[in-house]
This record gives sequence, structure tokens and C-alpha cells, in this order.
Amino acid sequence: MTDDVVEPLVRSIRDFAKGNIRSLEIDREHTIPPAVLRGLGELGLFGVTLPTEWGGAGLTAVDATRVVIALAEIDRSVATTVGLHLGLGTRGLVAWGTRAQQEKWLPSLAAGEAIAAFATTEPEAGSDLSALKAVAVAGPDGRLRLSGTKLYVTNAGFASVLTVTASTPGLGGAARGTSLLLVDPKSPGALIQPEERKLGLRGSSTCAFIFEDVTLAPDAVLGEPGQGAAQLAHVLSWGRMLLSAGCVGTARTALKAALEHVHQRRQFQRALIQQEVVQQRLARASAVAYGMSALVQTAASAEKDWELLSRLTTSSKVFCSEGGFELADLAIQLHGGSGYIEDTGMAVLMRDARVTRIFEGANDVLLTHAGLMELTAPAKVPTDEVLAPLWKAVTARREAMGSGIRALNRRAQQHALGWAVAWRDAATAATLLARTPVEQACAALLREEAITVSSAQPLPAGPTAVLTAALLEGVLP
Ligand SMILES: Cc1cc2nc3c(=O)[nH]c(=O)nc-3n(C[C@H](O)[C@H](O)[C@H](O)COP(=O)(O)OP(=O)(O)OC[C@H]3O[C@@H](n4cnc5c(N)ncnc54)[C@H](O)[C@@H]3O)c2cc1C
Repeated sequence: MTDDVVEPLVRSIRDFAKGNIRSLEIDREHTIPPAVLRGLGELGLFGVTLPTEWGGAGLTAVDATRVVIALAEIDRSVATTVGLHLGLGTRGLVAWGTRAQQEKWLPSLAAGEAIAAFATTEPEAGSDLSALKAVAVAGPDGRLRLSGTKLYVTNAGFASVLTVTASTPGLGGAARGTSLLLVDPKSPGALIQPEERKLGLRGSSTCAFIFEDVTLAPDAVLGEPGQGAAQLAHVLSWGRMLLSAGCVGTARTALKAALEHVHQRRQFQRALIQQEVVQQRLARASAVAYGMSALVQTAASAEKDWELLSRLTTSSKVFCSEGGFELADLAIQLHGGSGYIEDTGMAVLMRDARVTRIFEGANDVLLTHAGLMELTAPAKVPTDEVLAPLWKAVTARREAMGSGIRALNRRAQQHALGWAVAWRDAATAATLLARTPVEQACAALLREEAITVSSAQPLPAGPTAVLTAALLEGVLP
């Protein structure tokens, strides 16, 4: 007997998917059939992380990642729709919603009768969230008037509630300050724009919203007014955790398809799997996939420690989105010409994976941030002897940057340090979770590569300076 409730749920997801979810059709038609969303709602998937009091399953973050992995193994648009709802869409409401706010929204959100979305990105504020222009100003009656434009809102086409980030001058006594607001997208003045046409994730809905003087009741504010920046950091941790889980699903599907193909395809009088180069590529890919899932599990296990969660989900977002894309690309490569043809299902895997390196924090921005964090507040060194050489390599890289204002200004070096940190965190998670000889081999391979990543040389200074000067003048070689 086991009390694991997720295993039977994952089996139900797979059974439901067999008869109902056709990934190539979702991609071709640019939509997820409403019956699929209804079916997922009936399975309880839109409520897995929501409190039991409001009809959710109250599962842990680790369990939620297992659900998203299972969905992403089947279809990434479906996984993104559910994952966005469970993470960015509802996390604020669960963490800071008042009883009245939760009572109003959570029962229908848990049942999948309502779907949640999250609107932060703006035309002038993508990576730089300090440039947000959307504003909600309180009138004498306490009601807020929201104006601004939000771009690329996932789930927009069918969402019943949006968590919107806006500056709220004067609210809560703060002259400046940002707040998270609950907005009904059907409110007068909330104008949804047409569906975007995208490279991938074509079944997932993505639209802009223009808010023209939308009137909101004072209780639209989530938690303390003016605390939006700190709240956003936490909500984004959840978003990145579930996004990383989706990448694990993609990696597993890519790896499985590649393995099946190289066993069955014969060239040069033998199966492709007999080629040493193919074996080595797949060995490394398996290690990366294992590192991805270990890091997601480790990050999700930190759900109660918000600071650690934020650090580990930054590493997992970068490591898993790069890994998922790389493995989808490898699956295409090993399929040869057939991988490039849509019917094998490899092309959609890669197109769907591409955006994960951009959204919820572009990877280059997150890597620079991770490096800066490591520079100013280094992670605690574990005592495990096997891990010592790896952690020493990252420490050496950090110490080589020096300290003080010069180190703080070295963005390219922070970026390289951030990449070393992401690899270190993945290799560490894999090492600590590995049980079987195969998992231990994956962990050993990841540790070696993480040490190599940590000691990677920067670009040579002289030629880089010449090229940068040319590029600043708009000159291409
Ligand atoms: C399909 C899709 C769904 C999305 N869903 C949502 C959603 O539901 N809600 C929401 O709020 N947003 C959503 N987004 C928006 C997404 O989070 C942003 O696109 C992302 O944060 C990047 O912002 P940007 O597009 O403005 O790129 P920019 O900020 O203009 O950056 C462009 C590129 O410049 C580089 N760059 C920028 N700054 C730096 C730096 N400091 N250091 C190094 N390199 C840098 C990076 O390579 C980056 O990729 C979605 C986007 C897409 C495409």
C-alpha cells in the first residue's frame, strides 16, 4: 500500500490523454479543444495546488511538479495552460488572498470552471520590471482606476481572473509602490486584443490587454498594498518551478523518442544506437534530463523557504529550459530528415520548448542575476565530500572576480558565474538524490561538466573590445 496520490492521478492523465489529447492537432489548429480543458478540470488538475477548503487537492509543490511533468510529456500547450493557472495565475490568491477573495474565486478556479492568468509584461517593461507603467489610482471613494497595457498574457482568451501588476501611488501610505490586483477581464474598460500567432505553444492562448480606466473595488488588492515587488518575486518562483517541470516533461519525451528511433533505424549495416558518437550524445542527454528532474524536485521541496525557493527556481528555470530545448534539438538531429517533418512530432517539441528560454525571465537576465546573488550572498557550501571539488570550482570562479564595486559592475562575469551556479545546483541535486547506479552515473557526469562550466574562459578581451566598439557603431563584419 502507498499513500502516493499523484501516481494514480498521473495514470488518469495518461489514460485521458490517450483518447483525447492530440498534440499535432492542437499545434495545427492553434487551440486546445474546450472538451480537453473540461476533462482536465474533471480530473481535478486545475485545483491540485489550491487549498482543500476551497475544493482543491492541497498537494505539495513537489507533487504539483509531477503533475505538470506528466502533462508536458503529452503536450506542452496543455501543460502551460494548467501550469500557468497553478503557478503565476493563482499563487498570489493562495498566498495573500483574504478569506473573502478566496471564497469568491478559488472554488471555481479549483474546479477548472474558471481559469487564471497573470499580466505583468508591458510594451516598455519586459525584463526590466522597474519600468512598469500600468497604474491604479485610488479615488475618494477608495475605488481604484486601472490604466495600462499588458502584453503576452497566457490563458488570456479564456481567463476569468487576472493577477495584474500595477503601480499604486499613495496606496497603503507609500508614495510609490507596486501592488498585485485581481481583475475580472470582463470589467468595462478591460479590452482583450486578438490572439498572437506564435512559433510554438500554439494551443496556449496569448493575448494583450488594454485597460482603459477600469474601475476596481478596494478589495481588488492582493495582500499589503505597495508590496507588489516582493510578492512578484514569490509568484515568479512558483511560475519558474512549474515551467521547469514542463521542461522535464519535454526532455523525457524527446529522449524517449530519440532512443526508440536509434534502436530501430539502421545505417551502415547496424542500428544507430551502435554508433559510439550516438551513444555518447544520449548518455550526456540522459544525465542532463536526470539533473533537470532532480533540480526541479529539490527546488519544489524548498516551497516553505521562500528565499531558497527563489534561488533554486532561478537555477532550475535556466538549466531546465536550456536542457529541454537542447534535448528536443538532439531528438530532431538523431531522427535525421524525419525529425524535421512535422508528423514525427519532434518539430513541435522544439518549437514549444523555445519560448521557455525567454519567458518568466529571459535566461541571460536570470543568469546575470544568479551570478550577482552568488557574488553578494554565496550559497551555503554542503558538507558532502563528493560535492567538494564542484563547489570549490564555483567558489574559485567567484573569488577570481574580486569584490567591491568593480565586481558588481562586471555583468558578463556575473552571467558566467550564474551559469556555473545553475550547473552546480543541478549536479548537486542529482548527487544528493541519486540512488541507483545509473542515477549515480548521471550525477557523476553532471559534476564533471559543472566543473568544466565553472572554469570556462571568458571571451578574449582585446578582440571582444574591438568587436563591441564596431557593434555599438552598427558595424557588422
Ligand atoms: C508565449 C509567451 C507567453 C508569455 N506569457 C506571459 C504571461 O502570462 N504574463 C506576463 O506577464 N508575461 C508573459 N510573457 C512575457 C515574457 O515574460 C517576456 O517576453 C520576457 O520576460 C522578456 O521580456 P521582453 O519580451 O520584453 O524582452 P526584453 O526585455 O526586450 O529582452 C530581449 C532580450 O534582450 C536580452 N536582455 C535584456 N535585458 C538584458 C540584460 N540585462 N542582460 C542581458 N541580456 C538582456 C535577452 O536576451 C532578452 O531575451 C510571455 C511571453 C511569451 C512570448
